[in-house]
Amino acid sequence: MAFFAYMTLSLSRGHTVATSVRALSLASFSTGARHVLGKPSAGGSSFSAAVNNGPAFYRRGFHSSSILNSATASPETSNNLEALEKTLDVTHPAFETITKDIVTEYGAYCTLYRHKKSGAELLSVASDDDNKVFGITFRTPPEDSTGVPHILEHSVLCGSRKYTTKDPFVQLLQGSLQTFLNAFTYPDRTCYVVASQNEKDFYNLVNVYADAVFYPRAVSDSNVHAQEGWHLELEDKSKPLTYKGVVYNEMKGVYSSPDSLMYRSAQQSLFPDNTYGVDSGGDPIVIPDLSFEQFADFHKKFYHPANSRIYFSGDDDVATRLELMDEYLSEFDASPESKPGSEIKWQAKKFTEPQRLQFPYPVGEDQPDTHMVMMNWLLNDSRMSLTDELTLGILDHLLMGTTQSILRKTVLESGLGAAVVGGGLSDELLQATFSVGLKGVDKENVEKVEETIVATLKKVAEEGFSDDAIASSMNTIEFDVRFPF
Ligand SMILES: [Zn+2]
Repeated sequence: MAFFAYMTLSLSRGHTVATSVRALSLASFSTGARHVLGKPSAGGSSFSAAVNNGPAFYRRGFHSSSILNSATASPETSNNLEALEKTLDVTHPAFETITKDIVTEYGAYCTLYRHKKSGAELLSVASDDDNKVFGITFRTPPEDSTGVPHILEHSVLCGSRKYTTKDPFVQLLQGSLQTFLNAFTYPDRTCYVVASQNEKDFYNLVNVYADAVFYPRAVSDSNVHAQEGWHLELEDKSKPLTYKGVVYNEMKGVYSSPDSLMYRSAQQSLFPDNTYGVDSGGDPIVIPDLSFEQFADFHKKFYHPANSRIYFSGDDDVATRLELMDEYLSEFDASPESKPGSEIKWQAKKFTEPQRLQFPYPVGEDQPDTHMVMMNWLLNDSRMSLTDELTLGILDHLLMGTTQSILRKTVLESGLGAAVVGGGLSDELLQATFSVGLKGVDKENVEKVEETIVATLKKVAEEGFSDDAIASSMNTIEFDVRFPF
């Protein structure tokens, strides 16, 4: 607990952002997002993590296949098992096999390949799930708050080399049998995910996404950057020029939300020295600093196969996956500088005492004069072991997981504020953080919130938890890991 930032916002309004128990435990264990773009792993445990590429996919992936347990398998399922096991041996001249593993709990037969020419890594998961999933993720750490990763995420879906219509994404949503189709910008990576139960539809979606990320119209036609990022508009001759743009407008909305302002400020205060100290979504004040050239360069630098992780899962043919992706990947040469160039630097724990930060935010005249208070910790500044990660998740559940958990209960029942803020543990980025606080706090109670949190943590550190409470949290987390869907 050497590192600590604390903020007080001068007025309060808005909605509750309490994290549900379910979401919390998912967040605690969706470590895949971190592994996906980490070093190639040789261990089996990272496979089950790697297929969970972020929360959305985590919920949408293959279902738990307990029927595949060989002890209870019927002759028919044994045949399926044999067929699935054979997929581990599928090879393709353009790919080398790095490692293979079976995640029995999920009925997932996993092979990690490397594309020889481009260096792209491809995780292929064969299962009996007819919901076929494709994803491609690039590590895209920004150096400023122009929102370049976010604008690019919007822009690559505005037409590409093979799919020349201006809005293939909208057409896909309308005409496809897709069960999932989306893209996400995280503080350090950008993910594109599609899923469908129809094989032909699925291959079409994979082609559209692969062509979009590697050959977007946006890098040659500056109108896309202007439309999705920012441009100036003159609505009326007598009025001044105004900034417009899809992401610009979206982020203006985000920046007017007190809750999102607090979470962003908390993250930036915990990570003053690395990429998490800037906003990958884009700060509306800074977005117009982004030139078309910088935007196109960002694509060139980070949207290279060598800086990507590709994954497939479902009951589609493994050899076809490799063949299909080779058509795109074989057009790229290796890029030795691409992956090291996107590496995220560790934020050192450098504060020797708690830091207190205070930010104002705008509210309407009719809203109450209350504060939001959140305490935040940076938990680690080097890689944690899997045991440490699991332990942290159980500790987080004990402290914050349910309305009866000691820290959540004490803070909420203190009477010092209206709703709990900060969901406890957050481990979606390279480094884990812990946040807790209250909103709707009267000015004279701001310090008492801090005192209550610290006193509760001290009490827990001295007295520990009951065996029953520990067993119950471990059961809940084990259940979520085994049956996440
Ligand atoms: Zn957006």
